[in-house]
Formats: sequence, structure tokens, C-alpha cells
Amino acid sequence: MSSKISTVDLIISGGTILCIDPEMRVLKNHNIAIQNGIIRDIYPTTSAIYEAAETIDAQDCIVIPGLINAHTHVPMTYFRGLADDLPLDTWLRNHIWPAEARHVSPRLVYDASLHGAAEMIKNGIVLLNDMYFFCEQTAQALTTIGMRGILGEAVIQAMMSADGIHNIGKQALQLRTQFADNPLIDFALSPHSIYTCDRSVLEKCTDIALSHDMMIHMHLCETKSESENCLKEHGIKPVFYLDQIGLLKAHAVMAHGVWIDEDEMELLAHHGNSIITCTDSNLKLVSGIAPLQQYAAHGVNVCMGTDGVASNNNLDMLSEMDITAKIHKITTGDPSFLPASDVLRMATINGAKALGLEASMGSLEIGKNADVVLLSLDALETQPLYNPYSHVVYAMNSNCVRDVVIAGEIVLQNRVLTKVDEAEIIATAKTYQKQIASEQEK
Ligand SMILES: [Zn+2]
Repeated sequence: MSSKISTVDLIISGGTILCIDPEMRVLKNHNIAIQNGIIRDIYPTTSAIYEAAETIDAQDCIVIPGLINAHTHVPMTYFRGLADDLPLDTWLRNHIWPAEARHVSPRLVYDASLHGAAEMIKNGIVLLNDMYFFCEQTAQALTTIGMRGILGEAVIQAMMSADGIHNIGKQALQLRTQFADNPLIDFALSPHSIYTCDRSVLEKCTDIALSHDMMIHMHLCETKSESENCLKEHGIKPVFYLDQIGLLKAHAVMAHGVWIDEDEMELLAHHGNSIITCTDSNLKLVSGIAPLQQYAAHGVNVCMGTDGVASNNNLDMLSEMDITAKIHKITTGDPSFLPASDVLRMATINGAKALGLEASMGSLEIGKNADVVLLSLDALETQPLYNPYSHVVYAMNSNCVRDVVIAGEIVLQNRVLTKVDEAEIIATAKTYQKQIASEQEK
């Protein structure tokens, strides 16, 4: 009999498993067997077919696939609360860009990325899709902490030399080669937006994306004026402009998509480009509310991101799900729109689809990456339990995130980060605060 027992690396035992697979199965009394970073089996707890050196008891937990933060700027973590209560244009041009010009360095990017990644893991996030500067340092920080990332060096034309513009994409291709053996890290092209990159730059990014099978990650139609200015300047609406350039033929994901009309949605759906909604950031900067009901009607894949911490001001996907579900019930006048299960799909499988990772991420299924989050039911606010989807979206907060497994490795255990020292990360942030705050006063 014993010969029938296989040894695996890790077993997650019991709990309420929300698979987020096509059938949206909810499994009770099941184990997840993990080997070499992959889900090898999901099987009833009554069949003792696996043994493992390590077992996580998930009995009092809801078990979900790792959350995917599909749009963020993780090195901005040190600019949290630096400037608030302003419209996007003033916030960006008068506060954020000058602060970045003064302070951003490879060292800051590494330290702030480590901080942001630690915060995201404690919020149940396993993958971030990031756009910033010095993305090699972010890749190193994510490797240290054991988190996944797709990283794009932001292309903002006004900040670049002619040489830099000529070499767009070179660095991403080099980094891709450099990190080829690192299964956690990949790179993308990140033209910041239509209003910061001219047509030739967007064309160049498109060429590289198409010839090297590289994703494009950009901002699109975040504010009303951005969409209006595109029409004024180019005589054409933003999505049609990108189509004319050929960019929609590439694998492109667009953050925000607040000010888009139905003809533009049709085009996005036709090309299979996804929208990343960033509700909290859009509310705080009064950018608007993305038309998610129309996107759904047109069959556009919509996933979710926190955006940078400077415009949120947290990296909490659980609260992002909560606020997204509720704000769209108000705008549509329909409480049945965006039920909790749909919102959880946006934060998991839809993110995987958007990033081209559907085959390996976004759901708990045999053969997929072992990226698993355990949410504790051991708190006043999590009892009693009738509907686990409702709990995840409406009742739970980041304090409920107990354990996080990424690529089969436990990176958070009983709320303690296993690969980094949280106290040290907090101490480092305080050192930067002194430096940044004193510069702001000058
Ligand atoms: Zn952004």
C-alpha cells in the first residue's frame, strides 16, 4: 500500500477552496498537493495518496488563487501620502514628477520595491504588473522576497535623451535574457501614455512588441481631458489612434480606460486587448469611474490594479475589490451587477488572461503554478460564514491574509514574511522619509 503514496513538497490541507476554474468549483475537504512549484493534484482529504515534508492546515481558511495586481508602480511606495487631494495633472506635474526627479535612484527603487512587494504579499498579491524606472532593481527586490513581476521601464519622452529614445526596448530585451532562468520575472514595454509619447515612439514600441513577442503595458483614457486632447491633437479618438499605429495588434494591456466610448470598446474587444481598472486611484484623483457594464456588454476582458501607492494610498486588492463592486452597483443602479464572484475573477483569472498567463495562473487547477492564498476565518468579522465569495470581497480585510505560497514556496506564514525582515523594511522606509520630507520643505 505504501508504494501508492507519492511524496510532494507541500500539502495545503482542507478549508474552503475557491478554484476560480471555468466551473467555479467550491471544494471542501480537499487537499492541494504541490510539487516543484506546480499544483500536482487537488484531491479529497479522505484519500491519503500524498505525503509531504510540510503541510499547511487550511481548515479554518478560505483558499483562493493568488491575487494579480495588473497595474502598479511599486517603487512609488516611498511617495505614499506625499501629495493628496489634487487632480491628476497637478498631482503628477507639480508634485510626483519633481519628487521623482529629485529622489529616484537604483537604490531607492530596490528598497521601495522590496517594501511595496512585502506589503502586496501581506495583501494576498502574488504577481504585479509594474511600470517604473530602474526595473532591474525591482526585479532583484522581487527575487529576494519571492514574488512574481512583469516589469516595464516607463517611456516618458520628455525625460529621455535622443539616444534613450533610439534604444527603447533594448534594455527590456537585455533584461529578459539576463533573467531568463528566473521563473518569477518577465519584462514588458511601457510607453507611459498617448500624452507622454509621440506617434513615432508608440510605433517603435509596437514594432518591438510584435517582433519579440513582448507585452505593451500603458495608461489609456484615464482622464476626460486626455481623451479630449487626443481628439484635438490627432483628430481621432485614443483607441482609434492606437489602432492606426498598429499597437492594438500587439499584446497590449491598458490601465484605467475610464473615458472610452462604445466604438472604442468594440475595437479593443476585436483585438483582444484588456483593460485594467484602478477604481481607488480613479476615485481619489477624480478621474472618473470606468464603464465596466459597457465593457462587459462588449466582451472586453477587465482585470484589476491598485495603481501606485501615491494615488491610492495602499496596495490592498481586497479593499479594491470591495470598492469596485460597490461603486458600480451605484453607477448602474443595479445591486446584482458585479457580484462578489465576478469581482474575485477580475482580481485573479481575468488578470492572468490580460497578462497572457491564463495557462499557468489565475485559478487553482492541476498543472497551474502553486500560487495560493489562505484567508483566515479566525476573526470576529469573518464569522459566521454562509458565502465564501461574499466574505472575500465584502467582509475580509488584509489582516485576514494568513499564508501566501508563490511558486510552491511559503513567502508568508502566519502573517510573517519568511524571506525578508519586515522590521528592517519599516526602518529603511523611515530613513527615506526623513530625507524626502526635508527635501520637500526646501
Ligand atoms: Zn498608473
